[in-house]
Amino acid sequence: MDIDPTEVEAASTKKLYQGVCDRFEQNASFMKLDAKVHAIMSQPKAELMIHFPVKMDDGSYTLFKGYRIQHNNLLGPYKGGMRFSPEVSLDEIKGLAMLMTLKCSLAKLPLGGAKGGIKYDPNEHSMDENQRIARRFTLALGNNISPSYDIPAPDMGTNAQYMDWMMDTYHNLYGRKIEDKAVVTGKSIACGGSAGRASATGYGAVYCLAEWAKGNGIPLKGTRFSIQGFGNVGSHAALKLEQLGARLVAVNDHTATLINPEGIPAAELAHYVQQQRGIKGFQPEHEVDDINLFWTKETDFMVLAAMESTVNELNAGLIRTRLIVEGANGPVTTEAEEIVLKKGIQIIPDILANMGGVIVSYFEWVQNRNSEYWNGETVDEKLREKLIAAYHQVETVSKEQGLSMRNAAFVEALTHLEEVYLKRGVWP
Ligand code: NAD
Repeated sequence: MDIDPTEVEAASTKKLYQGVCDRFEQNASFMKLDAKVHAIMSQPKAELMIHFPVKMDDGSYTLFKGYRIQHNNLLGPYKGGMRFSPEVSLDEIKGLAMLMTLKCSLAKLPLGGAKGGIKYDPNEHSMDENQRIARRFTLALGNNISPSYDIPAPDMGTNAQYMDWMMDTYHNLYGRKIEDKAVVTGKSIACGGSAGRASATGYGAVYCLAEWAKGNGIPLKGTRFSIQGFGNVGSHAALKLEQLGARLVAVNDHTATLINPEGIPAAELAHYVQQQRGIKGFQPEHEVDDINLFWTKETDFMVLAAMESTVNELNAGLIRTRLIVEGANGPVTTEAEEIVLKKGIQIIPDILANMGGVIVSYFEWVQNRNSEYWNGETVDEKLREKLIAAYHQVETVSKEQGLSMRNAAFVEALTHLEEVYLKRGVWP
């Protein structure tokens, strides 16, 4: 039977949303989360769906569908990325928005959670068209975004260039005030971005991994790791791990799978991927056709930095590593997690492992609002400090309450939100 690829994609985004909801319900029930907090948290505060027309290079008009899901703003302004991808769906964005609320709470940031996106493939459009799409989406969002209300950032399919266009559009339309720069984060440094933002998520994942290794008495030097996804998160995680003496032995992305026990040079591969948009062709002699060879490759650590639900009930049993680090959001389905944990493999969950991005986004927002500029060392030091603190909070809850690191992270994040809700009350 032929499988329609769009059905597979729909199933994986459905799995992400269902997985986030299931994990929320399971932990809310375990910790006996206050009933009103439970009810409020179970749905986003607002779901914006916008159709907007954009002029194409050939003079025709295409109607695009954009989303912005504002999950919760108890702790501060809504915060979360903008994903431009043909797989974007309401369910996917809702799941990711809830993860953002939990992530910001776990990181103890004065920010809430949101996510947005447009259902289209930027690779199939010229940069002029992409610019008009990003600007027109910003116009359509209107004052639903602002530096003190909802602050987008890059995600899959967007980058600093898109954030620069969004900030410029907002500035010209609504504000023309100095603090307008803070309406989005992840901008280029020239336009008010922060040093260290591009590497923050990948480095953050490695700071967690290094704490885990230290706690388990494993020196990083000489260890082997594999990475799925070699974009922003995956490449920076690989570079940092390599700096710490570990060896990259397997990589998989949407173009190929590469296995080389002698080691794959991360910096050279990152440079290659920037030019070629994929790992295919980098070391053709080490390319393999069977992706299962990636899952079965024995390593000390596996970093998942591609997309949601890539580890599922079909391949979870094949994995041979000590630790999975979730650089991506929701890469391990709930069914797969059960299989992996039973094998004694631990998981550093997404809301902890990839919080580095939103932490440095917060630093960017603070710098913009105060017209300050911090250098790369300052940002990295502050990032490490925050990540290590969050890692140990989660580890403590995990040990004290006998929970997996994922459940401990959920419980810790929900406990903070519950405390604030109970102190503030629900008005009126
Ligand atoms: P990116 O677009 O730079 O890279 C994505 C990578 O995934 C690419 O290497 C691509 O080839 C690979 N990929 C895509 N589809 C794949 C498939 N079907 N199989 C294997 N590989 C595939 O994106 P990114 O910014 O690195 O984000 C990766 C993940 O990390 C996403 O889940 C994103 O939500 C999450 N994340 C990113 C940040 C950030 O700061 N960039 C922060 C938090 C979480």
